[in-house]
Amino acid sequence: MAKYDLVIIGSGPGGYVAAIRASQWGLKTAVVEKDPFLGGTCLHVGCIPTKVFLHHADLYDNFKRAEEFGFEVKGLKVNWPSMLARKDKIVKKHAGGIAALFKKNKVESITGSWGRIAGPGRVAVEKDGKVSELETTYTMLATGSEARSLPGVEIDGNTILTNREILLLESIPKSLVVVGSGAVGVEFASIFRTFGAEVTILEMLPRVVPLEDEDISAELAKAFQKKGIRIQLESVVESVNKNAQGATITYKDRTGKSASIAAEKVLIAVGRRPLIDNIGIENTKAKLERGFVHTDAYSETAEPRLYAIGDIVAGLPQLAHAASMEGIIAVGRMAGKDVQPFDRKRCPNATYCEPQIGSIGLTEKQAREAGFEVKTGKFPFLANSKASILGQHEGFIKVVAEAKYGELLGVHAIGPLATEIIAEPTSALGLEATLDDMAATVHAHPTVWEAMGDAFNSVRGLTINY
Ligand code: FAD
Repeated sequence: MAKYDLVIIGSGPGGYVAAIRASQWGLKTAVVEKDPFLGGTCLHVGCIPTKVFLHHADLYDNFKRAEEFGFEVKGLKVNWPSMLARKDKIVKKHAGGIAALFKKNKVESITGSWGRIAGPGRVAVEKDGKVSELETTYTMLATGSEARSLPGVEIDGNTILTNREILLLESIPKSLVVVGSGAVGVEFASIFRTFGAEVTILEMLPRVVPLEDEDISAELAKAFQKKGIRIQLESVVESVNKNAQGATITYKDRTGKSASIAAEKVLIAVGRRPLIDNIGIENTKAKLERGFVHTDAYSETAEPRLYAIGDIVAGLPQLAHAASMEGIIAVGRMAGKDVQPFDRKRCPNATYCEPQIGSIGLTEKQAREAGFEVKTGKFPFLANSKASILGQHEGFIKVVAEAKYGELLGVHAIGPLATEIIAEPTSALGLEATLDDMAATVHAHPTVWEAMGDAFNSVRGLTINY
């Protein structure tokens, strides 16, 4: 029986990052992956392909405004097949990159194989109906998640789609209904609206991107409506029925009345469920919490030496960088390194719709509910010179701080490069910086980032540029 220090089941951003770091720290490591390629949801049907399309959509938006930038562009056309090909090329390149990194770091890659815990320190590997076993000191579950559907709604992959199938569409649909307005829903709404589809979002809750600060939700709704995206809030989908033209979606609207809408394609984006079936959890003492795996602050489960990271873990934001950081901390523990537990509240959120959203820490409402005396400030991109150069004036940065000592509690940005500039407050919150620290930070000019400086100062009414 092959013997390892660590066997990881799953090669997404949780598993593959943990494997490389484990190997760097001297642990003999193997990764079991059911797919024939490495990289998981994020690389193949999540973060990367969606961001390729969002970048293309961004370029298209700019090309359409060519005259404003002093260009004459004639005959501008979307070549969808060529965009699909570029997306595939990027994904393939990066999957190959992970394989090369595994080789370089001496991580053993066991692809096309189903992994399951057979018992303490034993992982069963099933390939083509044959089962073998690996012996290991530590085991890590990093099996990720898959799209949920709604009761009674069957994903057929042709008309009723999840994030997987919508990435394979051979043409841009004339109309698209997106059910759910979390990050996945608003990103696809943004992509397909830019490329000309009639897009409607149906959201059960009273606002879009419901996990974000309320002001961010309101600003995104305003921007989406300006683009022609229809938004129906407090709308509960009851059924989706296919027909020759596509599908009819029936829902209860905010007044409780039944309403319906027809569309060529329907995207179901109502959250993701953890992939924990048939992975041998029942052979361990690990506990579940609402179907997710319960772990301690270092990602260890109730079964000694069994760790779980990423989308299958209870209470963790389902984000690639959260999965990766959990993996790094967990293997640090295994290797006896001095690592700090993962602070889930210090994990940035990034949503790449247009306008982008980047946020970290508490929303204003959460800060008030947590008992803080709160002071907020806001700086609009309208007053930022780099935003003028880019021609992207929508949005603002909102800072939530503790009133007396100016402790930073949260920062919420919507607008140009919001997913990039959120890096500064992420470090600031991690280092427990105050408004005074941030006001003393020099911001390069002209950058979109310098709007952060103005936003920090705005809490005390000391903004220069607005
Ligand atoms: P996964 O990436 O899901 O990887 C799990 C791996 O385990 C898979 O390769 C799977 O095949 C394998 N596996 C499962 N069961 C077994 C088994 N029994 N045996 C062997 N292998 C198994 N996050 C961001 O941070 N930024 C983004 O921009 C972003 N965009 C997204 C866009 C979309 C459309 C979606 C759906 C998600 C997006 N996410 C984004 C979320 C991100 O993809 C996930 O949080 C991340 O992939 C979770 O990583 P993971 O390692 O836990 O699991």
